[in-house]
Amino acid sequence: MRIDFHVHTSRSPDGLHSLRETVKHAKRIGLDGIAITDHARLLSRREARSLTREFGILVIPGIEGGHMALDRHWIALAIDIIPATVGIAGVLAHIAGEGGLSIAPHPHSCTGYNNYARLGFDAVEAFNGTDRLSNSMIRNTAGLPETGGSDAHATYMLGYTWTEMERCATVEEAVEMVRRGRCRPAGTLIPAHKKMQFYGRAFVRYTTGRPQLMWKSMQSSFAAPPNAAATGEECNAALLDE
Ligand SMILES: [Zn+2]
Ligand SMILES: [Zn+2]
Repeated sequence: MRIDFHVHTSRSPDGLHSLRETVKHAKRIGLDGIAITDHARLLSRREARSLTREFGILVIPGIEGGHMALDRHWIALAIDIIPATVGIAGVLAHIAGEGGLSIAPHPHSCTGYNNYARLGFDAVEAFNGTDRLSNSMIRNTAGLPETGGSDAHATYMLGYTWTEMERCATVEEAVEMVRRGRCRPAGTLIPAHKKMQFYGRAFVRYTTGRPQLMWKSMQSSFAAPPNAAATGEECNAALLDE
């Protein structure tokens, strides 16, 4: 089965299409599962279950943490509370404590953790649909489970990159399968013209339509969550550094 473990929607400041459009499109093009990993915004398990039922595709709740441009990123899947701590060690401990799965996305980019094994990530994104350079530098000598994710920020960027794995019916099964390394990255990079289509649209959106979005995202990414027990989609991720 094909699961894309790294997808953004318009719930990310830089995503173009809505959550529902994204899930619907993923199903239509033949993906079997999709992890929603918006920047600093957690999809709740309840929402994910509801989308799974409605669209007939496994929707895995998640978040991509770290400021979009200024921090290194981490992905957490299947958690209920956004880590409130500062520092990647605390974040990973929080994710483990919740029984969630941590993935180091695009680890060899300037916004990635290239020391993912030593830090204790559960898995590494060995193939990112957008970041050719990071992919080329992957060695994974520690043998962490490897995932593939598109890092799509628009529906038309989906379907090129995914993770191949045995069939699973629930979020818990999918997470467990990755944890055991029963998965491998598959597919190709997102074609350059699709990426250019996105960057063009995103640029126009920021410069003419909704510039306040970028400012809002900058602010929210720097702020700590309103309280440590905050849950759900409206919370902000903590500022992280190593
Ligand atoms: Zn990222
Ligand atoms: Zn991303």
